[in-house]
Amino acid sequence: MELFFLGTGSGVPSKERNVSALALQMLQERQSTWLFDCGESTQHQILRTNIRPRRIEKIFITHLHGDHIYGLPGLLSSRSFQGGETPCTLYGPKGLKEYVETALRVSGTRLSYPLKIIEVAEGVIYEDEGLLVESIGLEHGLESFGYIIQEKDQPGELLPEKLKAAGVSPGPIYQKIKQNEATELSDGRIIQREDFIGPSKRGRKIAILGDTRYIEGLADDLKHADILVHEATFAGADEQLAFAYFHSTTRQAAQLAKLADAKQLIISHISSRYQGEEAEELLREARKIFPNTVIAHDFYEHPVPANK
Ligand SMILES: [Zn+2]
Ligand SMILES: [Zn+2]
Repeated sequence: MELFFLGTGSGVPSKERNVSALALQMLQERQSTWLFDCGESTQHQILRTNIRPRRIEKIFITHLHGDHIYGLPGLLSSRSFQGGETPCTLYGPKGLKEYVETALRVSGTRLSYPLKIIEVAEGVIYEDEGLLVESIGLEHGLESFGYIIQEKDQPGELLPEKLKAAGVSPGPIYQKIKQNEATELSDGRIIQREDFIGPSKRGRKIAILGDTRYIEGLADDLKHADILVHEATFAGADEQLAFAYFHSTTRQAAQLAKLADAKQLIISHISSRYQGEEAEELLREARKIFPNTVIAHDFYEHPVPANK
């Protein structure tokens, strides 16, 4: 798994930062990419990466402000032009369906693949054998969500020494033992997996939040996140401005990461008012509260290694 930041600016694009979009690449895990928000020109940003629009399986929209959705119809259309045939599912607040369907209809766009649009409320919005996605409500001028991607715990490693000691020689049977709770051997013995396997590996937890005011109570939902992606539209001193505009400051993002006992904070959605040295200062003030902070920039890649 890897996070790839395609746009890290707030409001309007600047030369340094395009508007919001973030890819979660899961090429090894599921041969697909999930996208979070799709600001204008996201598809141009994608052209400069190894992300394949055909591989984009799901797009999660945090909220319907233009800097998070104006790139969506274009990307969906290009995905079709480039021969995408596999289904694509969109998740987002109420209004997303009308927006996308209207844009496609009035522009006479026909997609070559099935498009599903799911308007979400708070709670579990997707689950399969490997992952669970939950949406949490935020506080912004428009309805805004955060998405928590929780990977399910993985079974631990098989203990070959213990198996050999029990007289089970290596072979395809090992795979079978790992995959099943109980396995019958050729001699009729039943092997219980739990006796021959190490501790299970904790699944990764990634939280990607849309624009929001600081909400202390979110710390419970974000508890022990491996990665927290949080906006920081304002510097620490501008708390009142942040509140007035329904945004957060660097210090507030760091405070939330600390309360949640997260492993890593990545701040994004940076205003173009902060350039060069000033942007460095944003990072410094966040790190004073939560040392394990990085500030994202366009094309910043952040690996999310599996837990040991
Ligand atoms: Zn925004
Ligand atoms: Zn917004």
